[in-house]
Amino acid sequence: MELGENFYENLCEKYNSALKDGSLIFNGESAIHEKIELVTGTTTHTFQLTQLQSLLHRPEQGIRAENPFENPEPELTVVPSFGEDGKYRIVLNKFPVVEAHFMLVTTKFESQNSPLSPSDLHSTYRILNNLKLHDCTKEWFAFYNCGPQSGASQPHKHIQFMTIPSGHCPSADVLANTSKFSIPDQSQEPLQDASLPYAHFLLRLPDDPKEVTEDVLALIFVSLLQRTLTVLKENDADHISYNFLITDKYMMLVPRSRSKFRDTLGLNSCAFMGLLLCKSSELVDLVKTEGPETILQEVGYPNTSGEESNEYNY
Ligand code: AMP
Ligand code: AMP
Repeated sequence: MELGENFYENLCEKYNSALKDGSLIFNGESAIHEKIELVTGTTTHTFQLTQLQSLLHRPEQGIRAENPFENPEPELTVVPSFGEDGKYRIVLNKFPVVEAHFMLVTTKFESQNSPLSPSDLHSTYRILNNLKLHDCTKEWFAFYNCGPQSGASQPHKHIQFMTIPSGHCPSADVLANTSKFSIPDQSQEPLQDASLPYAHFLLRLPDDPKEVTEDVLALIFVSLLQRTLTVLKENDADHISYNFLITDKYMMLVPRSRSKFRDTLGLNSCAFMGLLLCKSSELVDLVKTEGPETILQEVGYPNTSGEESNEYNY
């Protein structure tokens, strides 16, 4: 099943009707946004803090028996069947903080702890590319919180799609702009910004969407995953947890050590796009006191730029 010309239009219509009839609870109205700048040498990194009064009704931790993605609510379902053999559905997030936040979910149960398949990656890219063509007002990105310490709350495989707030420029965008696409191999190592303290691995996608095939996406993903798994192994992690981010320009993976900072501030993939969600003013104060970059390192692992790679250490 193709997405079609009208996907973005359908997405907006579905979102507006679900909002109107109460099938969806928008949590962004009470949000207060604040920008924090971190200057390291000649580089400035920008973070956006979003303070929420409450995340009404949203389950902290979903359980398999009450899986909302097994039979998603029809009022939230934008595309009931997408991909080869109807492998996926496209469903609105019931508790969004950003308008029209939606998800690509597998029709049959698959674990959120499993890696993304070539088909998951390509379906995700096709959606991003469709949005790029039909929504000229916003920049979209997709993310996947994989593993027990990644910040995921639902165990059924779901890749989420959100817009970047206007005026915000993630550090990952800046890093991606320093390189061009080439097939990952020994000479094309993933990029990592040495001015950030946490480990992260990024590769550019081809500029021409026709060149972004399943195979190319899979090669890029595997190359980034190898680095991520090496970091987890070297730090004796007893779980495989990472955040995955993709735009129409790049893919990035970030190994995770824990899902929460000091057991109070939960962070998922969005945090590595510089978007930190704080559910109280105390948490906003905590981020300001500790510094977002220190917090991100604490829930991830130390930056590994400059470390040699060889056949054992990818
Ligand atoms: P994560 O917390 O990253 O695992 O993402 C799961 C998302 O599912 C959360 O952002 C929730 O807001 C969303 N969610 C929870 N219950 C439902 C539901 N019944 N329908 C649609 N989305 C839901
Ligand atoms: P969480 O409690 O982290 O699962 O997030 C609550 C809801 O906000 C979910 O719908 C998330 O996907 C979404 N979300 C998470 N982080 C951010 C962020 N930094 N900005 C906006 N929305 C976010």
